[in-house]
Amino acid sequence: MSDIDIAVVGAGPAGVAAAVTAAQAGARVLLIDEQGRAGGQYFKQPAAALAGSQFPPALAANIQKGRELLAGLAHARIVQRLHTLVWDVTPDRTLRLYTAGQEGRADVVESLTAKRLIIAAGAYERVMPFPGWTLPGVMTVGGAQLLLKGQGLLPGRRLLLAGTGPLLQVAGVQLHQAGAEIAAIVELQGGGQFLSRAFDFWGHWDKVGQALDQRRQLARAGVPFKTGRVVIRALGEQCVTGAVIGKVDGDGRLLPRSQETLQVDTICLNFGFVPATELTRLAGCRQRFDPHFGALATETNEEMETSQPGIFAVGEVRGIGGVDVALIEGQIAGAVAARQLGYQAAEVAPAQWEAWRRARSVVESLGAMFPLRPGLCELATDEVVVCRCEEVTAGEIREAARGGATDLNALKTWTRAGMGRCQGRVCGPIIAQMLAQATGLPVEAAGAFTARPPLKPLPLAALAAHASAAMQWEDHATQYGYVRTKNQ
Ligand SMILES: Cc1cc2nc3c(=O)[nH]c(=O)nc-3n(C[C@H](O)[C@H](O)[C@H](O)COP(=O)(O)OP(=O)(O)OC[C@H]3O[C@@H](n4cnc5c(N)ncnc54)[C@H](O)[C@@H]3O)c2cc1C
Repeated sequence: MSDIDIAVVGAGPAGVAAAVTAAQAGARVLLIDEQGRAGGQYFKQPAAALAGSQFPPALAANIQKGRELLAGLAHARIVQRLHTLVWDVTPDRTLRLYTAGQEGRADVVESLTAKRLIIAAGAYERVMPFPGWTLPGVMTVGGAQLLLKGQGLLPGRRLLLAGTGPLLQVAGVQLHQAGAEIAAIVELQGGGQFLSRAFDFWGHWDKVGQALDQRRQLARAGVPFKTGRVVIRALGEQCVTGAVIGKVDGDGRLLPRSQETLQVDTICLNFGFVPATELTRLAGCRQRFDPHFGALATETNEEMETSQPGIFAVGEVRGIGGVDVALIEGQIAGAVAARQLGYQAAEVAPAQWEAWRRARSVVESLGAMFPLRPGLCELATDEVVVCRCEEVTAGEIREAARGGATDLNALKTWTRAGMGRCQGRVCGPIIAQMLAQATGLPVEAAGAFTARPPLKPLPLAALAAHASAAMQWEDHATQYGYVRTKNQ
């Protein structure tokens, strides 16, 4: 690994496109992903045991397209490091890696400094809580997709898909084709919202065509598309047995006498996506608040380089953009990073820039068509657990907000929300909305939980191995006082 030119974190569409482009230009590339198979979210490939299995048409095309993209990784200048978590990164492009031991091999902990670093870490799904959302049987839409794509499994027999955004009907078609009964799709936005925003999609006929085709398939299958509604409550003691849904007004607030009960065993939720910016924040890259998706995204110039020279951000990390955007941004960053190191990479063609701008603009229109609504926060009554790792309730969050905790880090110190295993990846975006609602401040004022290494849980032995190699006798001034560390 000592002669690596470019390290790429994330083997989704953006990272793979970057790695292939840079390698074709002559650079030596290390492609790292914590998953065991390259492909990321969109091009997730089935487990080896499912090779040759038949997938429903909506998935088969996607898997095949992914296979074609991933074929490019069979390049002599690309080294893939899968099952490997990047748990820390510094502004000088030093990465700390943890590779979980596979098939009897020991765990590996190592550090490397790359000449250029491309961060393509993707996004997380956003959910909004309600009573019963922690019951087994409530999951994210992406989780249901991963079960289906990766393992060929359905999450349940009778499903409800709820939230807001185009993923609901994309996944609805995939799950229906795979044999699930879809009880309903429950979309937060009312019908008027679609009509009022329709002109934003003028000229994007391919996207409009896809959406209409999905809607037609679901209608033919008898799947009700219930707009202007939310899930109010999941029913069940040990697991989900049903869901109560209700109509909402333009602010997402429940309308009286509009409740309806659906018998389902699974509720799949998606309220859009939040860029995974922890790595770029750890590396000190400047962030911006993306108003279309109500979350931080990493700032870059048009060549995808962040405020830290030699560190690039592509795909969802620099703002939710979808797969077409991710592929083009990966190519741009791969070419620019390779050129900076003296390799001959082709210039990005004007048509490709145009395709990139079009793809970004359509996604921004989607963000505006499917906004969150303030009333959603009111669904979580005071006893509902919001931070699942530390079991912090909505009531405790509201009390802290009333007491003066106006941003996520203040609230973390106050309640422990965000201190658990997931480090606030699930609850952070929810609590930001709740704080905004409680304080009347804009969502961006809530900020983000400070990213700290290790980004995800590691065995202590791995941390100790790293520390014993790295520590010197040294005094560190921290906000808690002076700390003395020593080489063991
Ligand atoms: C759950 C989910 C479902 C989606 N479903 C659809 C869909 O049906 N249709 C659609 O058009 N779009 C969908 N999208 C959006 C689409 O997946 C993205 O637009 C596209 O995948 C973006 O590509 P990317 O390369 O930026 O990120 P991703 O494809 O998300 O790839 C990021 C990769 O980075 C890796 N990674 C992250 N952090 C680390 C780390 N610290 N160390 C090592 N590896 C790391 C992850 O394991 C992942 O493989 C979905 C997104 C999500 C999150």
